[in-house]
Amino acid sequence: MKIFQGIPVFPGVVTGKAFVQEAEGFRIPEQFVDAGALETEIRRFRIAVDLAKDEIVINREATRNALGQTFADIFEAQIQLLLDPRILNNTEELIRTQHFSAEHAVTVVMGKHTNTLRQIENVFISEKINDLRDIEKRLLRHLLGEKKETMGMLRSPVILLATNLTPSETASLDKQFIQAIVTELGGQGGHTAILAAALEIPCIVGVRQFLGEVDGGDTLIVDGNSGSVIVRPDEEVLERYRRIMVADTTRIESLDSFRDVEAATRDGTRISICANIEFPFEAENAVQRGAEGIGLFRTEFLYLTRKEDPTEEEHFTAYKHVVDQMAGKPVIIRTFDFGDDKTLDRYSTIVEHNPALGLRGIRLALKNWRLFRCQLRAILRASALGDVRIMFPLVSTVKEFRQAKRTALRDAMEELREEKIAFNEEIPVGMMVEVPSAVVMLDKFAEDANFFSIGTNDLTQYTMAVDRGNSSVNHLFQADDPAILRLIRRTVVVANRYSIPVSLCGQMGNPQNILLLLGLGLRNISCAPGAIARLKQICRYVSIEECRAMARKALRISNAKDIRDYVHNKLKQIAAELFDSAEL
Ligand code: PEP
Ligand code: MG
Repeated sequence: MKIFQGIPVFPGVVTGKAFVQEAEGFRIPEQFVDAGALETEIRRFRIAVDLAKDEIVINREATRNALGQTFADIFEAQIQLLLDPRILNNTEELIRTQHFSAEHAVTVVMGKHTNTLRQIENVFISEKINDLRDIEKRLLRHLLGEKKETMGMLRSPVILLATNLTPSETASLDKQFIQAIVTELGGQGGHTAILAAALEIPCIVGVRQFLGEVDGGDTLIVDGNSGSVIVRPDEEVLERYRRIMVADTTRIESLDSFRDVEAATRDGTRISICANIEFPFEAENAVQRGAEGIGLFRTEFLYLTRKEDPTEEEHFTAYKHVVDQMAGKPVIIRTFDFGDDKTLDRYSTIVEHNPALGLRGIRLALKNWRLFRCQLRAILRASALGDVRIMFPLVSTVKEFRQAKRTALRDAMEELREEKIAFNEEIPVGMMVEVPSAVVMLDKFAEDANFFSIGTNDLTQYTMAVDRGNSSVNHLFQADDPAILRLIRRTVVVANRYSIPVSLCGQMGNPQNILLLLGLGLRNISCAPGAIARLKQICRYVSIEECRAMARKALRISNAKDIRDYVHNKLKQIAAELFDSAEL
C-alpha cells in the first residue's frame, strides 16, 4: 500500500481500478529490415493504420453520444489526417526504398511533416501538430504491440490517472466511466479543477510524480475530500473508506431537501445562490440543484473543445438552450476568456512567455473584432428570449470596459437593429472583478458597469503573483489570504456605495468560505452546481451578525492559514452536526 498526497479540488471518496493515461512518447531508434521482409513490414504498417483509425472512430462515436456532433468533429479531422495519402505513401516509400522498419519510418515521416508545419505561419498549425503527434503515438503503440486502453473503449468505470489533462481531454470525459481523476500536475484554480466540478467527478491534482508507482488495474482509493490517493490499499483501510462512502452518500441524499429551499441565513437574510457552468448541458443540472440563475457561463469551452470557432448560430443555440432551461431566471454569459491555461492555440500567434499576463480575456476580444462580434450578436439575440446579461472577463482598465461596452457591443446592437433582429436594448452589462487594478479603480468602473462579479481565482493569481494552475506554488494560491479578503471587502463597499449589484463567482464560493463571504457583505454567490445545496444548508445555521463578526475578526488576522483555521473552527462550532463526514 502506498499513499500520495495531492490538492483536493472536487470532493467525494471512491474506490476503483486505475486507468493510467499514457503520457510518455515513444523513442524509436533507427531500425532496418531485410529486403525479404519489406512486404511484411508494409503490411504491419497498414494494420497499424487500420487499428489507429478504429480507435479514433470509437472516440468520435463516444464523443458524439456524450456531447454531440460539433465535439465529435475533433476526431473526424484526425481521421482525415491519418489517412492523408502523403503520410501513407511517404511511410511506405521509406520502408520500401530505405528498408526502414515501420516504426522508424513512421517517426521519420511524422517528424518531417511536423517540422514543415512549424515553418508555416498560420494560427491553426499548432493544433494540427498536436494531432500529428497523437496519430504518431497511436501508430507506434500498435506497431510496438502495446495494447492501449483508449478512454473511448472504456466499458466499466475506472479512476483516471494522468500527468495532466488538456481542457479538451477533460471536457470529453465520459462521466459514466470516470469515477475520479488524479493528475500529477495542476493546481486549485486550473481547468481540470473547474471541469471536474462541472462534471461532478471527485478530483485531486498536483500529486507530483506518482504514475511510476501505479499500474493499470491497481486498486485505488481516491479521497477527494482530503487529497489522499491510496494505491493498493490493505483490507483495513478499504473497510474504513467503505464506511466513509456510506456516510457521504447519506449526507448527499439529505442535501436533496435543500433543492427548492430559498437560501437564507437564520435571521432571514436572503442569499442568492447561482450556478457556474461551462457547457450548455449543465443548465439542466443547475436547475435540478436549485440554482437561482446562472451566475457565470464560461463560454470559452464552446471553442476549446473543437477545431473551428462556433458560428453565430451555434453560439445562439447554446445560449438559447441555457436561457430556456433557466425559464426566466438570470443568465450571465461571460464573453470568451481564452488565454493562460485555457489557451486557444489558433489565437496565440506568438509564443507568450507569460500567458497569464498576455493576450487573454477582453484584451483578445478587443483585438479580434470578428470573433467578438460573432459572440456578442449571439448573446444579444438570446437576450430577446429571457433575462440574459453580458459579462466581460479580465478587465484591467476603464478604457477596455468602455471600448467593449460603448463600441463593440454598441456596434453589434446597431447591426442587429439594421437587420431588424430582436434583442434587449437594456441588456445589463457587467464585468469580472479579477484584476487588482479593477478593485482599485472600481468607483470609475461604477460609472459604466451594471454589475460586478468577483473572480477570486484570477484575483488571487494576480494579487499574489502565483500561477493558479501550478502545484509547486499552490500553498500561495489561497483565496482566503488576508490580501484577498481586503480586496473583496473593498469591492463590496464600493459597489454598495454606487448601488451596483455585486456577486462572487470564483471557486472561493464554497462551503468552507461561505460564512466569511457573507460576513464580507456578499449576498449573491455563484458556484459549481454540486455545491449549491451545501451552501444553502450552511447559510441556515448562522445569522448575518455572526458572519459579520467572523469577517471582522478574519480581517485582523495576517496570514491565510490562521484565517482558514479560525473560519473552519467557527463553522464547526456553529454547525457541528454538519461535520459527520470529512467533507467541508
Ligand atoms: C475567476 O477568475 O475567479 C473566475 C471565476 O473565472 P475563471 O476561473 O474562468 O478564470
Ligand atoms: Mg477568471
